[in-house]
Amino acid sequence: MSTIIRASAPAKVNLVFEVGQLAANGYHPVNSLFLALDLREELTLAKGELGTGISIYVHGDSIPESHINAVPTDQSNLVHKTAALFAKKLGVATPDLQIDIHKRIPVAGGMAGGSADAAATPRFTIEELAQVGAELGSDVPFCIYGGMALGTGRGEVITPLEDLSFETNWLLCASSKGLSTPTVFAAFDEIGFGTAFTDLNDISAVSSAQELGSRMSNDLEQAAFSLMPSLSEQVAQLEELGAIRAMVSGSGPTIAALFESEAKAIEVSKVLISQGVVALTAKGGAQGSRLDG
Ligand code: ATP
Repeated sequence: MSTIIRASAPAKVNLVFEVGQLAANGYHPVNSLFLALDLREELTLAKGELGTGISIYVHGDSIPESHINAVPTDQSNLVHKTAALFAKKLGVATPDLQIDIHKRIPVAGGMAGGSADAAATPRFTIEELAQVGAELGSDVPFCIYGGMALGTGRGEVITPLEDLSFETNWLLCASSKGLSTPTVFAAFDEIGFGTAFTDLNDISAVSSAQELGSRMSNDLEQAAFSLMPSLSEQVAQLEELGAIRAMVSGSGPTIAALFESEAKAIEVSKVLISQGVVALTAKGGAQGSRLDG
């Protein structure tokens, strides 16, 4: 099998996720603050036998096997959809490709795992990919840009922001069960509306992890708690163990906890791992999708 290309894209956390009232187009407008983490999905693409189309193989050993097994390998995989969409836009037949996905991002965890895979699928220019990416999912454009950015519209309209002046240290607690994003939004609608949208343009000037933690918020958190009550206990436990702030990431159920130092995040991860929790450490920010070779 001749390797054509290797590419990667980052996980995201939403430092702020504000959700507006359901609009006539069926979507909730959001005001989101994204941060990319150095937890990266890696794609390796090789040319397949003539006429075999796209075949996908998914593996990874840092997340539970149940997560790997939950990823479809057929036409519904976002990488398949991305490659097919590119081929259509270019007016060419769907390519014969063997695609290997090395998964590190918890699946259905609110950390844009599938979107990162789509964003890593080799491409045209970054702007063209971002445009095509938005058709595939609201988080795809951010995974292409990386760094820190505002997301408006459905979250797909990206305004890149200056990076923070310091590195952030995260502990991510994955759940063995996923939460579907539409279900979380439906629970949000039942609970009521979120906070008003705030101006997040000054966020790059924040000078410490403490200050950043005090700015974090997620309008979907109560909805995720209502569907999975254990999540609120996990948030409380992480803060008791020393997190500056622990919060549901996006639509959950992954909990993203911000720590003062890498050493502290690792120390707490060991406690949680000994209790059977899937706890991953990561740093923010990180580059968007890129070719690695
Ligand atoms: P987001 O944070 O962008 O809302 P998420 O991280 O919560 O997304 P994903 O990991 O992207 O969720 O997976 C959501 C669902 O998408 C999965 O349950 C799976 O069925 C499907 N899916 C399709 N392609 C992929 C892929 N490449 N990786 C993971 N899931 C995929």
